[in-house]
Amino acid sequence: MTHDYDLFTIGAGSGGVRASRVAAAHGARVAVAEEFRVGGTCVIRGCVPKKLLVYGAHFAEDLADARRFGWDVPTCAFSWPTLRDNVLAEVDRLNGLYKQTLGNAGVDILHERAEVVGPNEVRLASGRTVTAKHILIATGARPVVPECEGCEHGITSNEVFHLPELPKRLVIAGGGYIANEFAGIFNEFGVDVTILNRSDTLLRGYEREVVERLQSISTDKGIRFHMGAVFDRIEKRSDGTLVSHLSDGTSLESDLILYAIGRVPQTEGLGLEAAGVELARNGAVVVDDASQSSVPSIHAVGDVTDRIQLTPVAIREGQAFADTVFGDVAHTVDYRCVPAAVFSHPPMAGVGVTEAEVRAQRREVTIYRSDFRAMKNVLAGREERGLYKMICDASDGRVIGLHMIGPDAPEILQAAAIAVKAGLTKADFDATVALHPSMAEELVLMR
Ligand code: FAD
Repeated sequence: MTHDYDLFTIGAGSGGVRASRVAAAHGARVAVAEEFRVGGTCVIRGCVPKKLLVYGAHFAEDLADARRFGWDVPTCAFSWPTLRDNVLAEVDRLNGLYKQTLGNAGVDILHERAEVVGPNEVRLASGRTVTAKHILIATGARPVVPECEGCEHGITSNEVFHLPELPKRLVIAGGGYIANEFAGIFNEFGVDVTILNRSDTLLRGYEREVVERLQSISTDKGIRFHMGAVFDRIEKRSDGTLVSHLSDGTSLESDLILYAIGRVPQTEGLGLEAAGVELARNGAVVVDDASQSSVPSIHAVGDVTDRIQLTPVAIREGQAFADTVFGDVAHTVDYRCVPAAVFSHPPMAGVGVTEAEVRAQRREVTIYRSDFRAMKNVLAGREERGLYKMICDASDGRVIGLHMIGPDAPEILQAAAIAVKAGLTKADFDATVALHPSMAEELVLMR
């Protein structure tokens, strides 16, 4: 039987774009449906605009520190509309580039919602049905909104990039990386920020000591943490003030509430169950190592599979799928040693196992630390200290975990992650001459 396309991708985000482009390069006839904007979460309302806001926010500290470095800095005023509009213009530019890349690759872009109606058939919002030999679900994840009276008064990361003005007081619900990143951003802009977290643990899964360092630095910078409580109800007063009535009997007043309490796979109303595709309890598409679902012609990549919700992972899954199904090269994604960062102020980054994980496995390890004040911070009069932590297998000295907080930690960690992934040992790190003076030299000087 002939189909309209060899591949029909639903969702033009990180995973869907890569898979569609590569499949087309392998000679497949490809269409991709996108209900919002080509580029997906990362480009339109995730990593990219977030990182640009992080850069914008950090000027607050840079400008203050510049005086200690001899610069006569006049009183500086910050304009949120200017930063917001410049960031949104950059997002528009990237959106155009993504469309151009797909177009150049010969991929048909359909700017509408698509749903699955069978193993080889999708229906578009316009009512048209299209058949394809393979269907790729790359619909990503969506932010969770708490269920409580008045929850409609809060926003999610989808809306935060478009704020008409900065709030004076902000409550951010959640303790993950998105909550901590926005807390850092808005705090630098002078907003009074409170993080409200259900549990007593921030950034679950990250290296504890590094997280504790972030929490203490964040507290020193003025971010407040209200732990162990959730919303009972949210009340909006006539003057616009939002009052969060909490489960511990206290309340918080703010002008804005941002929910960053998690992201769930976006499969609602997609027709997958009716088509026989197995879904996990949280809606994630259940896939095997080759990203194939329980229906052989339907694959899924990226956040919708809830493996590791990061852009480079979605991209690799899309690439592996397209190479395997449409190219000559069958390969899968290696999920070991995936580096991750939190773009807080200062940022954190890590790769490999954490101390809590190795302790739970009763694995014998040797741990090295470097607790230091970056040279730049010393002259600037900033007390904030960096912390690097290296976890080595006690039997052979292999570095199996590396975690850090401090200026430029993600930039430094990306290079070091190559060594960790390659299985290098502490002795290999030590055999490398330090690059002085740098913060990264701490990596080869740890005791
Ligand atoms: P997405 O990029 O979400 O793309 C899915 C697309 O499918 C969307 O465009 C959506 O509109 C479309 N779609 C959904 N349903 C349909 C349908 N039925 N029909 C048509 N189209 C549909 N990751 C990092 O690695 N580093 C970071 O610093 C980082 N920061 C982040 C910051 C924020 C605020 C957020 C929210 C996320 C961040 N992420 C980060 C995560 C990253 O954005 C995701 O892991 C990545 O975008 C997942 O790619 P994807 O292809 O699975 O899905």
